[in-house]
Amino acid sequence: MTGTTETAGTVTNWARTITYQAREFHRPRTADALAALVAGSARIRVLGSGHSFNRIADPGPDGVLVSTVGLPPETEIDTAARTVRVSGGVRYAELAHAVHAHGLALPNMASLPHISVAGSVATGTHGSGVANGPLAAAVREVELIVADGSTVTIGRDDSRFAGAVTSLGALGVVTALTLDLEPAYEVEQRVFTELPLEGLDFAAVAAAGYSVSLFTDWREPGFRQVWVKRRTDQPAVSFPWAAPATEPMHPVPGMPATYCTEQLGVPGPWHERLPHFRAEFTPSNGEEIQSEYLLPRSAAVDALDAIDGIRSPVAGVLQTCEVRTIAADPQWLSPAHGRDSVALHFTWVRDEAAVLPVVRRLEAVLAPFDPRPHWGKVYEIPSTVVRGLYAHLADFRALARSLDPAGKFTNAFVQDLLDD
Ligand SMILES: Cc1cc2nc3c(=O)[nH]c(=O)nc-3n(C[C@H](O)[C@H](O)[C@H](O)COP(=O)(O)OP(=O)(O)OC[C@H]3O[C@@H](n4cnc5c(N)ncnc54)[C@H](O)[C@@H]3O)c2cc1C
Repeated sequence: MTGTTETAGTVTNWARTITYQAREFHRPRTADALAALVAGSARIRVLGSGHSFNRIADPGPDGVLVSTVGLPPETEIDTAARTVRVSGGVRYAELAHAVHAHGLALPNMASLPHISVAGSVATGTHGSGVANGPLAAAVREVELIVADGSTVTIGRDDSRFAGAVTSLGALGVVTALTLDLEPAYEVEQRVFTELPLEGLDFAAVAAAGYSVSLFTDWREPGFRQVWVKRRTDQPAVSFPWAAPATEPMHPVPGMPATYCTEQLGVPGPWHERLPHFRAEFTPSNGEEIQSEYLLPRSAAVDALDAIDGIRSPVAGVLQTCEVRTIAADPQWLSPAHGRDSVALHFTWVRDEAAVLPVVRRLEAVLAPFDPRPHWGKVYEIPSTVVRGLYAHLADFRALARSLDPAGKFTNAFVQDLLDD
């Protein structure tokens, strides 16, 4: 038995807003079976943990969808070199646990640890922190099964590397990644409430911790909560702009804080503080749609003022809005490519008909700031505009054609972007 094959008609994303149109869904159990499947398929896309909100993973009705979860999950840690080689389908929760057991740490994590490593870095997924790049910044080597079924390894010293990590799944199946690690560290997390938008010193607030997130429901101007995650090996920074919370909080008003990582300044291991949500809970039941835009960080306050101008329609379909920072990233297709960024994230109610008109209004007010949409989330910006935001698109197109001349790893989403 080399794996399982099913009709794909019932496979959905995590939020159940997308049913993949693939003809078949495969879960091979060996690398040889996966390579044979790739070599024998005319159109194939990989599904990670399915946390994307659009059709980025969908091969379309004639294609094959493949998951790597059936392959043996590997986390090989080299304590001397401070690296880990991890299979692509492993989720950050398991990876972090294994790494921490060796006294080592990842530099950063996203808001929840349930997402796969390969799927996250493929879309430019990030946490927060003025000096922290996206999760892909930790990657030093990628192993892929490419179109002809052979394995290709691309490391940092390879000229193709800048296209190979945040690759939207368009180059091949990522079977393993090698990541940089550092000595384990502790983090304490404090939440502050009611930060005014008026007079906001965004640069100072964003730099008040190793990782800082601002949350608002846009029902009133300003931010309902600011989450400040401080490494205990770094100096404490005072936070004079808002009052400290006196009890644990959930970023979505009314949701129980039980699902959230520990707050109130209790120090703990990096992987139990950097994500907002605990690994042992599913943070919500998927009753949401997400959108997110990365802008030059210098535009943060102007962009927030612009959103404040359409606060009422935004608030009408919003669960929560999170504002984070990401350091400039060299990956060609990274939404943080070449610019220190502010990320404006929106968790909407799961009602596409009500949400999409607001998404379009939001994109109209953000347009002067050249917003790059998160590849894994819902956006309406035309691909002609998105293409203009990536200076290395032609380099990526050439890389994709060299590894996949017949375009078997492409789909409508990628094609739209890569069209000459
Ligand atoms: C509740 C929730 C919280 C989130 N929090 C954050 C956050 O804090 N920060 C942030 O930036 N984003 C966040 N996201 C978005 C999420 O990180 C991205 O959508 C990410 O791509 C999810 O990884 P995945 O494995 O689920 O990807 P999938 O949706 O399964 O796939 C995404 C892309 O990766 C490709 N891919 C997946 N695995 C492989 C592989 N092995 N080889 C080649 N290609 C592959 C797919 O083909 C597809 O193109 C969140 C999403 C949810 C639902």
